[in-house]
Amino acid sequence: MIPGSWLDLELGGESIGKAQGRGAEVSGRLEKGTLLPEKGPGFVRLGGAAVNWGAGHLVSLLMRASEALNQRDSRSVIHIGGISHREGGRFQPHKSHQNGLDADILFVGRSRWGSVLNSSQKVTERFDLEKNWEFWRLLVSQRIGTDEDSESVVAMILVSPAIKDRLCQWAREKNVLDDELNRDVMRRIRPTSGHDGHFHLRLHCSPFHKKCVRTKVLLAAGDGCQKKRIRRGAVQARS
Ligand SMILES: [Zn+2]
Repeated sequence: MIPGSWLDLELGGESIGKAQGRGAEVSGRLEKGTLLPEKGPGFVRLGGAAVNWGAGHLVSLLMRASEALNQRDSRSVIHIGGISHREGGRFQPHKSHQNGLDADILFVGRSRWGSVLNSSQKVTERFDLEKNWEFWRLLVSQRIGTDEDSESVVAMILVSPAIKDRLCQWAREKNVLDDELNRDVMRRIRPTSGHDGHFHLRLHCSPFHKKCVRTKVLLAAGDGCQKKRIRRGAVQARS
């Protein structure tokens, strides 16, 4: 095993079943849940203890990645606002957040709920693209599996479609997708409306949580920026 060093894969909360149910279905729960502390180096918990219980590796990842970002830039404080109930199960109004593998996190640089888009759905300067990207790189860099066969512990990151478009545009301009970790981050970012003030992080089951059921995550092929990539490819093919 080469677990990411920030992942408490065997300690604390254990995910049972699935992260997400259909409709009002209860599909998952949490045993021996780990409570995210009210605050710590580089992070603040939004919301009460009732809704901030997670799997051991989710809580350890959030705490250590937040601390690492804060060590690079002391102004960076991650605001985490909702994981799961102590014993998991249905967490209204969410379909997911059932087994301690999901967290809602304000975009880095924000300390309050509220959209980073304007009324025309354009991304504003309230969205600090590079700081968020830096944090996502820290999260996605943590891996589970073996030397021969490993993958990021991050299953997906949900952001509003306008934000994904902005990220793709930035990535093309700065040519950042030549880097393998950047590509891995980009393909895990799924455009999903409703995520304009926070992003939703979903982790994979810890390999030690034998009763955890892996949910299928449909990631776009490639980095999910392909509309423009296909067009660019077509131009190249002609030339
Ligand atoms: Zn969520």
